[in-house]
Amino acid sequence: MDKSDKNNKLLQKLPSVGSLLESANSDTFYNDVPKSVILNAIHTVIDELRSRILENDSTVTENNLSGSNLLKTIKALAIMDMQPNLLPVVNATGVVVHTNLGRSILPEVVIDNLAQIAGRYSNLEFNLAIGQRGSRYESVEGLLCELTGAESAMVVNNNAGAVLLCLETMAKGRKVIVSRGELVEIGGSFRVPDIMTKSGAILKEVGTTNRTHIHDYQNVIDDETGLFLKVHTSNYSIVGFTAEVSVSELAALGSRHHIPVMEDLGSGTLIDFSKYGLHKEPTVQESVASGADIITFSGDKLLGGPQAGIIVGNRTVIARIRQNPMTRALRIDKLTLAALEATLRLYRNPEKAVNAIPTLRMITASIDDISKQANRLKRSLTRKCNNRLELSLLNLSSRTGGGSFPLLEMPSKCIAISISGFSTNEIEETMRANSPPIIGRIEEDKFILDPRTIQDDDIPVIVKAFENMLQKGGS
Ligand SMILES: *Cc1c(COP(=O)(O)O)cnc(C)c1O
Repeated sequence: MDKSDKNNKLLQKLPSVGSLLESANSDTFYNDVPKSVILNAIHTVIDELRSRILENDSTVTENNLSGSNLLKTIKALAIMDMQPNLLPVVNATGVVVHTNLGRSILPEVVIDNLAQIAGRYSNLEFNLAIGQRGSRYESVEGLLCELTGAESAMVVNNNAGAVLLCLETMAKGRKVIVSRGELVEIGGSFRVPDIMTKSGAILKEVGTTNRTHIHDYQNVIDDETGLFLKVHTSNYSIVGFTAEVSVSELAALGSRHHIPVMEDLGSGTLIDFSKYGLHKEPTVQESVASGADIITFSGDKLLGGPQAGIIVGNRTVIARIRQNPMTRALRIDKLTLAALEATLRLYRNPEKAVNAIPTLRMITASIDDISKQANRLKRSLTRKCNNRLELSLLNLSSRTGGGSFPLLEMPSKCIAISISGFSTNEIEETMRANSPPIIGRIEEDKFILDPRTIQDDDIPVIVKAFENMLQKGGS
């Protein structure tokens, strides 16, 4: 029999879409599965087999084509398709504000508040005192002013939007003076020079990469100068022979020439981390006190809340920002607002906030706490996996991530795992394919779990994943 005869024979054996659909419909499993999902799965399976047959794939046998075999694959595909695409994962990377894993995770009380507002009508834009339309920014403006010392505040969808909006409002068609040491790229194609162009402002660079002085700013001031911009170089550090101009120096120069000062803090913290033995990051309060007219920062970096762009500063400037039609396009959503308000309320008690806000708790965790967590996980793994894992504790470091503390490596006690019969890559892949996925890293040819970002309820999940892996056996 030649190849094409054999192929035709196999193609004829391939069940029809109609007959597979009929079989599926008689299976109660599919009662709650949308028809589009069933059909997609059927087509995927049939198309794949048909092309394998046409490519003379000799591994396709009549047995592969039996209805019951196909239905098994179809069900597996349907189950996969019914899973959400956006999944919770276990972050065992040790990177606290992990951009790829959703930056900050929210405190319990914040999640409760968010859920309350999500499932109910709210006074989002309704002033309950007078029974008329109100402003959506009121719920957080007072809190932000109280916590930062600023005159006025407002919030938008994210900090990139906040920077764009502020530049457009304050400096469209005018020159914005920025130090060459601060022309940063944040990632995800957010670059200060590009955002400046988009806002219609004209970038005027001054100074050099490592050193910029106040006279550099002074020398270029002319009638077209609209703003001094200072950008917190949050994801890198210039070290060695350096000089930069402080916000207060810029504010003093600006007030003599009627030029406002804006500071993009990026990571924006309300807590002085130097009190916890960490490097000093500029706080929002300090920037306000130094005389910056407008300050922008993220809600989900060091603040530890939801994604948002927070703008605080001068009342007149913020009133103009609110009137800007661009504000509507960057409007913060009510779920974010609910989460942000609840997060900010926690900051009224800074000592408590450090424990209640997961991002802060993980960054300020002591090496003792981390070692304890490491030992708990190690003991559990040893017990449940019958000593089949080779486990050791390594002194490695974790990072804050999210463009904060660029030089800071925080000491951590990590669990290093290898398993005989499995390569390190296989361990990494199996953990990544787990439900929920467990994301670690590979270092010194071992699979590394960093307890800094592992939550208490992640521990049984991790242990179960290794138990399952050992049961399935190695390659
Ligand atoms: C992260 C960052 C931004 C962008 O903030 P998003 O919240 O990601 O939009 C802007 N400027 C600086 C300095 C940053 O670090």
